[in-house]
Amino acid sequence: MKLIEKQTVERTVIVGYRCDRCGNEDAKAEDWITVSHGHSQWGNDSCESVQDFDLCSPKCYLAQLRESVEEMEGYRTGEVDHKPVAFVKALLDYLEAPGSPGYESGAGAARLNYEP
Ligand SMILES: [Zn+2]
Repeated sequence: MKLIEKQTVERTVIVGYRCDRCGNEDAKAEDWITVSHGHSQWGNDSCESVQDFDLCSPKCYLAQLRESVEEMEGYRTGEVDHKPVAFVKALLDYLEAPGSPGYESGAGAARLNYEP
């Protein structure tokens, strides 16, 4: 015989997003992107280094990449958006360099005005 009782189960659901860069809550659901950074150096420090950021636009994405690169740069195993930090730094430098295809298309301009 099964002993039965009524229970109320609580669960957590995502009801929306808020951009971790600019505070925007209005972007379309499909526009949200999550970026993580962290490193796997020895010790508890590595667990604490892993952070996720929900972002609303390419501008906020680029700004977060730059900030994450600056935070992870000193770590040999540092990763930003699941890529080695040195690669992401080189990518940003490439996009932001005057004369690069990224600069011409406007991505480089994000460097000039990261903050909303
Ligand atoms: Zn944003």
